[in-house]
Amino acid sequence: MSEENDMEKAIKETSILEEYNINWTQKLGAGISGPVRVCVKKSTQERFALKILFDRPKARNEVRLHMMCATHPNIVQIIEVFANSVQFPHESSPRARLLIVMEMMEGGELFHRISQHRHFTEKQASQVTKQIALALQHCHLLNIAHRDLKPENLLFKDNSLDAPVKLCDFGFAKIDQGDLMTPQFTPYYVAPQVLEAQRRHQKEKSGIIPTSPTPYTYNKSCDLWSLGVIIYVMLCGYPPFYSKHHSRTIPKDMRRKIMTGSFEFPEEEWSQISEMAKDVVRKLLKVKPEERLTIEGVLDHPWLNSTEALDNVLPSAQLMMDKAVVAGIQQAHAEQLANMRIQDLKVSLKPLHSVNNPILRKRKLLGTKPKDGVYIHDRENGAEDSNVALEKLRDVIAQCILPQAGKGHAIYHCSVCVSVSVCVCTCSHAHDRRSGLT
Ligand code: ADP
Repeated sequence: MSEENDMEKAIKETSILEEYNINWTQKLGAGISGPVRVCVKKSTQERFALKILFDRPKARNEVRLHMMCATHPNIVQIIEVFANSVQFPHESSPRARLLIVMEMMEGGELFHRISQHRHFTEKQASQVTKQIALALQHCHLLNIAHRDLKPENLLFKDNSLDAPVKLCDFGFAKIDQGDLMTPQFTPYYVAPQVLEAQRRHQKEKSGIIPTSPTPYTYNKSCDLWSLGVIIYVMLCGYPPFYSKHHSRTIPKDMRRKIMTGSFEFPEEEWSQISEMAKDVVRKLLKVKPEERLTIEGVLDHPWLNSTEALDNVLPSAQLMMDKAVVAGIQQAHAEQLANMRIQDLKVSLKPLHSVNNPILRKRKLLGTKPKDGVYIHDRENGAEDSNVALEKLRDVIAQCILPQAGKGHAIYHCSVCVSVSVCVCTCSHAHDRRSGLT
């Protein structure tokens, strides 16, 4: 709470234009919240990066968590934050925005930088990994899970060979209190580790297992999974899980590989890479989060502390010169991260009136017509939801996917399609269609 107050006090309400010139044409990079721009401090002519967000509780939370972590040398520093009304040319009136002035990371994004190295060695990959791991350790010690660890969020300070790497973008970061999903937040698809984390949480609550001081729930362990993928790509230039079928969403065969942790170290690229490097990747890409290395385990791993030369030149730099390949890798990685965060997503449901479903109609769920679609609300953002039909759908969804204790293949009775019993492991998709989920 006190951090929240401190943060509120630190946000300036004076106009940013009194102190900075903003370059509206140059874009440093683009994220989900729009481009990050360049601004120059009038008094010193120093260049900074400027991220502009709508002033909403979620954005304030991002600023608060980023500020909490930003004291670490491997985390992008926040210089100051302004709360101003800003009107862009396409807008009819000004809107409340947060303007986050950050240190400028001139060296750009991780994979782009690597692609410019002609001789990117295993030693350099291990040094980069160490810096990312130190940044994550700092967040995890503060009990903050970053949850969006991807190459676009790892930036080099400058273009020199030994420039520090820093973590940015706390837009999905979350205090990891082990607060796990409740049935009303349960979406139709859930990663096994989410269910596992819930099981642990329940056991801790009922005293069956001791409560760990900083529980390593799926939120933090998803950062470690991400780190495993990033190391893999840094070493060989392609991702551990991929599919021959190109599509906008993760194809089925790729999803299966991820869920079963099936990946290989193809000889052509990996024969020159050390066993230590393979070992750290294997230990991070474990399907079960409790088997995955913790961040301390990563930092203690021999690959990050080796005195060996490891001067073999990696094949990754060459492969990363192909921008399309990198874009594909990044898209797949971002998508998998989104799946891992699914318990916090606003899960979109089709507007009920547009669902042509005889079972729903029979059960009179279509009686109330929402104006523009319905959403499972996001409690963090304070959204409200009073749709009765939605409540019922939530019950259905929760009943369908929450396993009964001790039963692997439980049969469920569904409150919408009363006559149908559903087996979680094989029938959930058929069931999703019945409940109108997109
Ligand atoms: P979003 O939350 O909208 O995804 P990010 O914070 O991830 O935005 O920033 C988007 C991109 O902007 C990054 O991937 C990076 O390329 C660039 N960027 C962000 N912060 C900085 C910075 N401090 N210095 C230089 N470039 C940055």
